[in-house]
Amino acid sequence: MADIRSIEELDAQGKRVLVRVDFNVPVDDAGNVTDDTRIRAALPTIERLLDQGARVILASHRGRPAGEGFEEAFSLAPAAGRLAELIGRDVALAADTVGEGAQAKVAAMEPGDVVLLENVRFDKREKKNDPAFAEALAALADAYVNDAFGTAHRAHASTAGVAALLPAYAGYLMQREVGTLTGMLDEPKRPFVAILGGSKVSDKIKVIDALMEKADVLIIGGGMCFTFLLAQGYAVGTSLKEDDWVAAAGDMLAKAEQRGVKLLLPVDVVVADAFANDARTEVVAADAMPEGMMGLDIGPKTAALYADAIAGAASVFWNGPMGVFEMPSFEAGTKAVAEAVAANQGADTIIGGGDSVAAVNKFDLADAMTFISTGGGASMELVQGEALPGVEALRR
Ligand code: ADP
Ligand code: MG
Repeated sequence: MADIRSIEELDAQGKRVLVRVDFNVPVDDAGNVTDDTRIRAALPTIERLLDQGARVILASHRGRPAGEGFEEAFSLAPAAGRLAELIGRDVALAADTVGEGAQAKVAAMEPGDVVLLENVRFDKREKKNDPAFAEALAALADAYVNDAFGTAHRAHASTAGVAALLPAYAGYLMQREVGTLTGMLDEPKRPFVAILGGSKVSDKIKVIDALMEKADVLIIGGGMCFTFLLAQGYAVGTSLKEDDWVAAAGDMLAKAEQRGVKLLLPVDVVVADAFANDARTEVVAADAMPEGMMGLDIGPKTAALYADAIAGAASVFWNGPMGVFEMPSFEAGTKAVAEAVAANQGADTIIGGGDSVAAVNKFDLADAMTFISTGGGASMELVQGEALPGVEALRR
């Protein structure tokens, strides 16, 4: 982190500061923000700049517009409204991103004013990291702060290109995300227990591989566990499985053995006769899964085993639900693991990944965790050991 310029080094008084935030928030039919977590996550940075008397120019994407100009469905208007409520000041929404509308709004700014540019992805040059678009963004401001950790794994004009054209700094959220995740990987408190679940091995193989180098205990659940069970020679019925990845899963098992990493797989499974909440279910041993049934959650013995391992951890990283937690019939395993992580108050507990965070929120346990990453893809790429373009662009 020491080689990344911090917002604390920026004297923002009177300056026009372009802040890349992640206001990619869900909005309902009435145009209300239904989850303002991402907006609130940017408040420390925005408030510091306002306290210093900066002119704060915010830029974000929202959704996946075509890149051919304004589209109502992807406007940042709902985010502007919610931000104004949260900071108790007017937030002026520009009609465009770098065009005449934005330029006029920025030219009229006084210290302490906030302008939100329209969705950067209304211009297809954003995702191409087009130099002219980056220059147009840079021309609006005197300094640049990146607080959009959730898009740091994308080399776009507003996340990477513009950073080379202005004095560039990491905002508080960016610093906290990168600092926490790299701290966990560089010097985890031991024993370090990594919990991995979710749907597919193929999505997570690099994360499993990276954590194999760091963790003392690796817990596997979710849909991906069946490919591991196949690698152990068990039958898995109609469970989610990836035949092309059985060999890789077998390699992982061997690697864990070599490295002395304790790798835990389910010993029992909740199987169902259909992918439905009202399916007929049964708890079976992992080596006796019936034909024609699919595993949709870890079983109670497994949950207890995993909870025990988690209770003994000094640090925990969790990515990926243990089962189809969206359906109440298959939420027990994920809930048990979430409760075990929450109960270990002595440990550093870090949660990453969109659905894992949603699960922790569903069980109302977010406050009990040390850190919840706001970046799904970005946190996974960081854990995999990949350089994030949005972070690299902030290096001195
Ligand atoms: P994250 O977003 O936390 O990284 P993933 O996207 O990898 O997690 O996986 C989450 C999804 O995995 C959830 O929608 C969940 O329903 C699904 N899942 C978990 N266990 C199973 C299972 N046994 N069979 C099918 N899908 C599963
Ligand atoms: Mg997901």
